[in-house]
Amino acid sequence: MSKQMRNKILSAILVFAMIASVRLGLGMGVVRAEEESAPAMPKYIFFFIGDGMSHVQASAARVYKGNNTEGEVLAGELNFTSFPVNGIASTFDSTSFCPDSASTATAFSCGVKTHSGVIGLEVDKVTAPRNLSEILSQDLGYEIGIASTVTINHATPAAFYAHVASRNEYYDIAMQMADSGYNYFGGGTINKPTGADKDQQDAYEILVEKGYTVTNDPAEIMALDADADMVYAYTDCPQDGGALPYSLDAQEGQLTLSDYVTAGINVMGNPENGFFFMVESGKIDWACHANDAKATIYDTLELDNAIQVALDFAAEHPDETLIVVTGDHETGGMTIGQSYTGYDTAFDLLAYQKMSFVAFDALVAGMLEEDPELTFEEVMPVITENFGLVTPVDASTAPDERLVLSKYEYKKLLDAFETSLMTPEEQTNNEENYILYGGYNPLSVTLTHILNNKSGIGWTSYSHTGTPVAVHAYGAGSEYFGGSYDNTDIYTAFLEAVGLAVNE
Ligand SMILES: [Zn+2]
Repeated sequence: MSKQMRNKILSAILVFAMIASVRLGLGMGVVRAEEESAPAMPKYIFFFIGDGMSHVQASAARVYKGNNTEGEVLAGELNFTSFPVNGIASTFDSTSFCPDSASTATAFSCGVKTHSGVIGLEVDKVTAPRNLSEILSQDLGYEIGIASTVTINHATPAAFYAHVASRNEYYDIAMQMADSGYNYFGGGTINKPTGADKDQQDAYEILVEKGYTVTNDPAEIMALDADADMVYAYTDCPQDGGALPYSLDAQEGQLTLSDYVTAGINVMGNPENGFFFMVESGKIDWACHANDAKATIYDTLELDNAIQVALDFAAEHPDETLIVVTGDHETGGMTIGQSYTGYDTAFDLLAYQKMSFVAFDALVAGMLEEDPELTFEEVMPVITENFGLVTPVDASTAPDERLVLSKYEYKKLLDAFETSLMTPEEQTNNEENYILYGGYNPLSVTLTHILNNKSGIGWTSYSHTGTPVAVHAYGAGSEYFGGSYDNTDIYTAFLEAVGLAVNE
């Protein structure tokens, strides 16, 4: 190529780039580089986090949804596991290879490694980097939405609006929520709204004073629109300390995570501004801590329903919407396949579980309140009704012969029931009890262990584990999320996707 021709081509490219940058002249003082052929930058960003969700939790939901018939094995599809761009992210933090939700959410929101338990601060526990919500709202004028199935000042949502040295500083986190001015908070209640000593002004009141519309009325929440500027919409459910109920236990008329995503879009779908919407399914983690596979799977499926709401929005805003889905860490050491089922699985048996461990605990607690002398024989019909399991002597009444307890399983269940009647101190005062029950109600955790094991699901922990997580991306800017990287790189990828130089 002659020098003259190369100069001509270079000037043509320069003119084209100038036109393109004028056409895309967005942002206040933010430099964006874009070429005509490059994919559009996302104006609407959804970031879904399955707390405690790694490959195995998503795969378990696919297996449950699929066909487990011998000779015809077929996994079902989830929206997010079918996304075109996929990555894998390491999850360790500066303290541990088994990190917690505070440090991992900080990795996503601030792009830094920090201690377990720390929210929005660097490893010195003092330096507060601007988080994604701050950068996107301040530099690009995006509206900010935050939704979660757990309390709204819990670690994961908090990392997107607060900076605190300890995730337990709930009141301080709630105050930072009130001061954020962000457009939409949706889902669970505020934990410790009047402070640890219950002597502070109520956080709900403060939100109203700061100009928030605060509502727990389902009809009112679903009728919200873009006229509502700053909203905190929540469900006041007593199960699990003010979080949304497990999807497995949801009652007619109770709002779901999908509903909270719909409401958030209605509040923030103002075509003038873009938005960044972080949505957490927080009880996948809680169910995994308790080793309850059915509750885990149902919340994962509901997360996928919520992602469908985002996909419907993306269909109306093609080339402008980015959807990213990941987990923050794995919980429970869940496996598909375990020691005594070998290569077999039978996920269809999970269909016999009718309620989560939390709901079952409440049910048995109610029975014990009525009759403190309650016997195992009296509880057994309730177990059969809600978990399908039957005793060896009642084998002929089993809805499915695989649900008959072996003598070994029956003894484990009987021991668990007897242990559940002891004081909490007696229940946890020896090593074996901890390994068997993990501090959960011995009866319900043994029930889920038995039904999960019969289904071919194993657990190795009641805590978080060090396995990496999958990242799934769809839409404008999704190309930045492919490959193998660290969880802090997810922060970087979001900024790259919106054309922001990463020099925070
Ligand atoms: Zn957890």
